[in-house]
Amino acid sequence: MSVALAEAHNAASRGEVPIGAVLAKDGTIVASAGNRTRELKDPTAHAEILVIREACQILDNERLTGCDLYVTLEPCTMCAAAISFARIRRLYYGAQDIKGGGVENGARFYAQPTCLHIPEVYSGFKETEAEVLLKEFFRHKRL
Ligand SMILES: [Zn+2]
Repeated sequence: MSVALAEAHNAASRGEVPIGAVLAKDGTIVASAGNRTRELKDPTAHAEILVIREACQILDNERLTGCDLYVTLEPCTMCAAAISFARIRRLYYGAQDIKGGGVENGARFYAQPTCLHIPEVYSGFKETEAEVLLKEFFRHKRL
């Protein structure tokens, strides 16, 4: 989660929304990324999607069975779905996203009968750091 937070800081310094993600297998980092939606002009370039894409290329597989994803903020519905499609084993996230989250808020993707793979979900990791980073970022944006 420290690496995910570092990626979130890097994203902020690029003017992106400060969210970072890390994909690990057997305790080893396979891929890490921060949001790049502005840089890539791609609304799907969320940190989670970028690490899933990269890890699938590195592991040469469209499924990430046995892999764990760490992300600083509760994933949105799109990312929650991608995590399910990738067959990720465990999802660890930092802060809750009451407005945009899709795991424990909003659409609650994993609670839907149409969701075929449900990862184990653990939340609250380095929650305060992730929240402060986001609040600072949006406060500066408004100034
Ligand atoms: Zn997302």
